[in-house]
Amino acid sequence: MIHVTKPHLPSRSQLDKYIDGIYQREWLTNKGPLVEELTKRLSDRLGVENLLLVANGTLALQVAYRALGVSGISGGNAITTPFTFPATPGSLKWEGIDPVFADIDPKTWCLDPTEAEKKITASTEAIVPVHVFGNACDISAFDALAKSHEIKLIFDAAHCFDTQYENQSILSFGDASTLSFHATKLFHSIEGGAIVFKSSEHLQVAEKLINFGLAGPNQLGGMGINAKMNEFQAAMGLAVLDEFELVSDSRKQIWSLYLDELGNLFHTQQWHPNVTNNHSYFPILLSNESQLLTTMEELASAGISTRRYFRPSLDTLEIYPSSPCPVSRDIASRVLCLPIYSTLALADVSKICALIRKSLTG
Ligand SMILES: *Cc1c(COP(=O)(O)O)cnc(C)c1O
Repeated sequence: MIHVTKPHLPSRSQLDKYIDGIYQREWLTNKGPLVEELTKRLSDRLGVENLLLVANGTLALQVAYRALGVSGISGGNAITTPFTFPATPGSLKWEGIDPVFADIDPKTWCLDPTEAEKKITASTEAIVPVHVFGNACDISAFDALAKSHEIKLIFDAAHCFDTQYENQSILSFGDASTLSFHATKLFHSIEGGAIVFKSSEHLQVAEKLINFGLAGPNQLGGMGINAKMNEFQAAMGLAVLDEFELVSDSRKQIWSLYLDELGNLFHTQQWHPNVTNNHSYFPILLSNESQLLTTMEELASAGISTRRYFRPSLDTLEIYPSSPCPVSRDIASRVLCLPIYSTLALADVSKICALIRKSLTG
């Protein structure tokens, strides 16, 4: 059985070193030394400032909105994409901010800035684009849009661990960017996430927000939630980070082999020219849904699982009343993500490619 993804489990001895420290200190959570160490190492590795670790990528989004004053209190909304994981609009709705979907670009699969602009009204407080599958959305267009309408810009960068845009971290754009460190993501801490703020003031606000709004040990500040990362999550994060070059190299080899073997058979996502690829996903675009279902089924019967990220297009859900986004619906019906993870053997990749070629040519 080949899964579509598998979490990277770091060497036990490396992980144990971090866990031994936790046992010695008996300090399990609340801004412990491993959370501090991971904050520092990730900031250096990614080349960013104002990075805050949190319990997961969904809370990262929620806390980012709060810290930036995007509240939905007076019936506010935020423009986002329907071609994403449910956490993107879900985090908005949970915070009382209405997600308003605008359609995606058919080539890049990211939120289309021209479509987004059409949806902006006096009630719009923010734009929340997603760098889909690690591909940069049109950052400069969204920057200009947010500035001219004086609204906040928050990038859901859950797929963008270690991504460089124009030779700097992609996380340094917008008012904030968020990451997910869920077990299935490229870099993980079992569950976890981070927010990277442009300004240190917003970071300071968020530091209180994730700890019940406490301003000090016995000092109640404002409202807050519990969104803290704990020491065991940080231990896993550090141990995975110690092996990250390995993870990254093997995924790159897998990704390149897929491209060599399948590249001329499929259209895939048009990659932004100024962004690096972290090889998180290998999505292919089939000609139509029935071709997709056939391919998916043939692979499944050979014990190979694939995933239809992100289906259905979220503008079709009743919980989010929306005008239709036809491009997103079309792309969502035809995209299939192929298995990719650090321990997937290249021989298995070749086998998967052969099955796909056979399925398409009959
Ligand atoms: C995974 C993911 C999230 C949610 O992150 P969790 O850590 O699972 O809460 C948010 N947005 C996108 C685009 C994702 O892929």
